[in-house]
Amino acid sequence: MRKWNTFQYETGDPMSEADRIEEAKAKYRAERDKRLRADAQAQYSQLTEDYEEFDHDPWAEPGFTREPVVERTEVVIVGGGFAGMLTAVGLLSRGITDFRIVDKAGDFGGTWYWNRYPGCMCDVESLIYLPLLEETGYCPTMRYAPAQEIFEHCQRIGHHFDLYPHALFQTEMDTAVWDEPDARWNITTSRGDQLSAKFLITAGGILHKAKLPAIEGITDFAGRAFHTARWDYGYTGGSPTEPMDQLADKRVGIIGTGATSIQVVPQLAKAAKEVYVFQRTPSAVGVRANEPVDRAWFDAQEPGWQAERMANFTSAVSGEQPEQNLVGDGATQLLWQDTQQQADTPERAAELERSDFETMESLRARIDEVVDDPATAEKLKPWYGKHCKRLCFHDEYLAAFNQPNVHLVDTNGQGVHQVTSKGPVVDGVEYELDLLVYASGFEVTTGLVSRLGFDPVGRDGVRLSERWHDGAHTLHGVLTNGFPNLLVCHFIQAGYGLNFHHYLRELTAHLAAIVAQASEEGITSIEATVEAEDAWLALLWEAGKGFGRYSAACTPSYHNSEGARTMAAARNVVIPGNLMNYIGHLQRWRDEGDLPGTVVVRAEATRV
Ligand code: NDP
Repeated sequence: MRKWNTFQYETGDPMSEADRIEEAKAKYRAERDKRLRADAQAQYSQLTEDYEEFDHDPWAEPGFTREPVVERTEVVIVGGGFAGMLTAVGLLSRGITDFRIVDKAGDFGGTWYWNRYPGCMCDVESLIYLPLLEETGYCPTMRYAPAQEIFEHCQRIGHHFDLYPHALFQTEMDTAVWDEPDARWNITTSRGDQLSAKFLITAGGILHKAKLPAIEGITDFAGRAFHTARWDYGYTGGSPTEPMDQLADKRVGIIGTGATSIQVVPQLAKAAKEVYVFQRTPSAVGVRANEPVDRAWFDAQEPGWQAERMANFTSAVSGEQPEQNLVGDGATQLLWQDTQQQADTPERAAELERSDFETMESLRARIDEVVDDPATAEKLKPWYGKHCKRLCFHDEYLAAFNQPNVHLVDTNGQGVHQVTSKGPVVDGVEYELDLLVYASGFEVTTGLVSRLGFDPVGRDGVRLSERWHDGAHTLHGVLTNGFPNLLVCHFIQAGYGLNFHHYLRELTAHLAAIVAQASEEGITSIEATVEAEDAWLALLWEAGKGFGRYSAACTPSYHNSEGARTMAAARNVVIPGNLMNYIGHLQRWRDEGDLPGTVVVRAEATRV
């Protein structure tokens, strides 16, 4: 009998571990192959372009108007989420006060502005995920903070650093055109603004564009339908902090079983008459164990504690084992070993494989422990490596399937292909619904231009979409040739961290440093050289060898561009492994002082 305890399993199964690993690998391959599809990322439709009614802002002030702003400024930051706010705070810390923040949302917060679905919370410890805790003096209530609290913290940052006067909300970028003689970006917006900025910083976020599966008949559905990032409490009742009280007589379906869905399903299970969960690929769900933050502990921390805790977490989830694991939660215990890395020897490769298998076995065993019906438990089991999709942590999701009103509709890796006026059709069965929720995710690894929603025009009228037609060309993921003073704040050709805040904190400090150095040294414009872009890509590909092999064996997801094998997917990569490697590259580049790998034009018009 298999016995599961928090992160290990024991088994009396006579099969050898090596045989079980081989068996699992064969199943991983079969499950991946079932899901690979030629249309890869194109299987999704963009909300704004195809289904405009899905993309309205439920939170914005209706009828909002303002006078257009016409001004010259030092910096325009696109995006008012963590990245935009941290960039602004970084600029302020370097004495640069002349900037604008443009965001289509009605407030700061980015993903935490949009995502207010029931059960929404952060899956990274709030003590390291919420920015600027020491600066604002804010102590999070829970180890994993609810979304509402994170959104309020974003507003707190906005007030604390007096960012609101800089913000142009409910405003979308229309055009951004580089004016070579003036060495500035000329920007127009949906509200008639005309901004002239020395630097344009794109901090659009990775969860900025919600996507829908392009399912036949999707717009024929006669009931209510919306994406999780546009939750309609007017229909469901309740609010982000109160239970939904208008679903007791409703049949609700939810398409998708990713990190969002596992938070929503338990809430729907409590509120709705019937819940149908349409699954293409199950999530791996570990123990959450949320608890209140100890205020006395918080008050006793020495200055610099948050940076130290963040670095410790990053190291603990990057294959290193810090002497003391400060966060010590499920993420650090399941991800302590980076099993994607390139192994030096066959023995090391086998060790990494075994470690990955054991982690996933423990998560599969947990399902048998929690879910009563063995057939349902079997369908909920994830058959892929631990880095293939974001690991989830929740204590109510799996248990929800023990409720009589919750039904798992497994599509055997095929997904929902058809929706009629009554509801989704799977295996010839039409599921009649009142509400259909799309937990179908966001454009994370599509082209940057598509996600930004505008197409910067650089030198000689060349659009970014043209220069990057075959994927990104950058130095550090930040500077790009032909687009002077465009600073990209994203995670294309850059780093990545499970704690996205840690990544953004470092990257935005880098951006602020470039702007400040330009101002101090009379630099008119800066862009990467083509040679430096090529060298950076070569470095990324070398560093990513192990990752590429691992990722190719994975079931499709946004992590591997839905299995696409295109040049753009190959170029739009990140430095895998420890985020500190990427941070080290930025730091060393700044330390050199003379901006290597760039074309710099100074005020006296001498090219260096
Ligand atoms: P995901 O992209 O992770 O999940 C989308 C889901 O929709 C997948 O289960 C996908 O299946 C499914 N799907 C797509 N098309 C179909 C179809 N035709 N039929 C059935 N199912 C379909 O999006 P999420 O919103 O869940 O998460 C996105 C990211 O947001 C996370 O990875 C995480 O980074 C972040 N997030 C963070 C949270 C936090 O606490 N910090 C909380 C929630 C989200 P398949 O897997 O087969 O592609």
